[in-house]
Amino acid sequence: MGEMTGSDVVRVLPRAAWGADEQRRFADGEERWPPAYATAEALVVHHTRTANEDPSPEATMRAIYGFHADVRGWGDIGYHHVIAADGRVFAGRWDGGRAGVVAGHALGHNIGTEGIAVLGNFEDTLPTPEAWRSLVSLLASRCRALHLDPAGRSGPLGPAGARRPYPTILGHGDCRPTTCPGEQLAAALPRLRAEVAAARGPAQVRPSERRQARAPDSTAALSRQRS
Ligand SMILES: [Zn+2]
Repeated sequence: MGEMTGSDVVRVLPRAAWGADEQRRFADGEERWPPAYATAEALVVHHTRTANEDPSPEATMRAIYGFHADVRGWGDIGYHHVIAADGRVFAGRWDGGRAGVVAGHALGHNIGTEGIAVLGNFEDTLPTPEAWRSLVSLLASRCRALHLDPAGRSGPLGPAGARRPYPTILGHGDCRPTTCPGEQLAAALPRLRAEVAAARGPAQVRPSERRQARAPDSTAALSRQRS
């Protein structure tokens, strides 16, 4: 993986970093939203429609947690990951220490997707350069972990009767009637996919195509992704 650079390394800060009150996930000793697991085929980009000049991203995370857990009644925050304007990446939905937890970020499309939100409102502006870099790195990292082509498409996803493929990197508004992730960020998705593809490194080689693999990097990527 000689193409890999430092931009591929993304550090996800644990829930404790934003002060998640883990008691909030329980009621009468029962977990309010017991985790379920599924393999994600697509990554949904969101904005949180919160302030762009945010003095305390941690407080905003706690507010979103409270809104999702208690006002919505889900029992936890609905995003898998949330990115702050300074580029920090926060862990969202509690995953029980296992990969593939189903979260709650795109109604009818939560199974088979992961939700990544950028803190802020991107109707009229784009994320900060720091947040953008983390978004690219995180998406590239998730594409590697899930063996997704950033420029590819998912299998059929969505509610029964309306299942269809989606871009592997899509905006919330691509699968639901919503303006999320904001007009400016939605318009930047093609550039985002291209930057993620560059950051992800060599495309995954399917086993049947392995013989045609020319670059040593591709073979290295294959063995790495299978381990
Ligand atoms: Zn959204």
